[in-house]
Amino acid sequence: MSSFVVAIDGPAGSGKSSTARAVAQALGFSYLDTGALYRAMTWWMLNHGINVDDAEQVTAGASQPVIELSTSPQSVVVVVDGVDVSAAIRQPQVADAVSAVSKVPQVRTRLVDLQRDLISRGAIVVEGRDIGTVVAPNADVKIFLTATPAARAQRRNLDFGHSADEVKATQAALERRDLIDSTRDVSPLVKAEDAVEVDTSDLSLEEVVVAVLAVVDSKRSVKG
Ligand code: C5P
Repeated sequence: MSSFVVAIDGPAGSGKSSTARAVAQALGFSYLDTGALYRAMTWWMLNHGINVDDAEQVTAGASQPVIELSTSPQSVVVVVDGVDVSAAIRQPQVADAVSAVSKVPQVRTRLVDLQRDLISRGAIVVEGRDIGTVVAPNADVKIFLTATPAARAQRRNLDFGHSADEVKATQAALERRDLIDSTRDVSPLVKAEDAVEVDTSDLSLEEVVVAVLAVVDSKRSVKG
């Protein structure tokens, strides 16, 4: 299929993953979860005893792991040095360390190269933090999803089947991660000027998907 890139950026818990996968499925496009790459890199660092708060150690390790990622919206399979880490990268230890690893320039350079290679292969929905701004600034469609911190924490907890008591802790962890992601020097989480912003706080997944598909339709008819 010819190239068509849908970039979906936003903070954790804004509904990016569910939306991006559903949009990719509806369009018959591939799907790239760029967060999975940063998580895979972080898993490798933790597994090799690297102190993720030591930028020199992270920099030294950044070129080493061999990371493979599937681009099917049906399931995200991540393999690091031959080990399937698809489940392991979703663990709290990885989530807590990933923002420290992601702010290291050498990590980003390496993973952005990998992302651009995957994006160049055809029509694709790409989700992340810096897709519309840095990875694919010429994307055909740019969406920025937002939601209130409370709505994001609530959604995350439902995703993981947590009890309501855990919402507060989740919200604090998300806010910590967002603060690092949006204030780092390289490729911070910001809305691209030409992105369409969708506040998902009071919308169902179906409603968000419909809104994104409407933007895609309008751009596709222009592209022809
Ligand atoms: O999207 P997800 O929550 O899996 O992303 C995990 C982390 O990976 C983010 O908190 C951020 O630190 C990093 N990330 C990034 N740039 C992207 C995607 C994710 O820095 N494009």
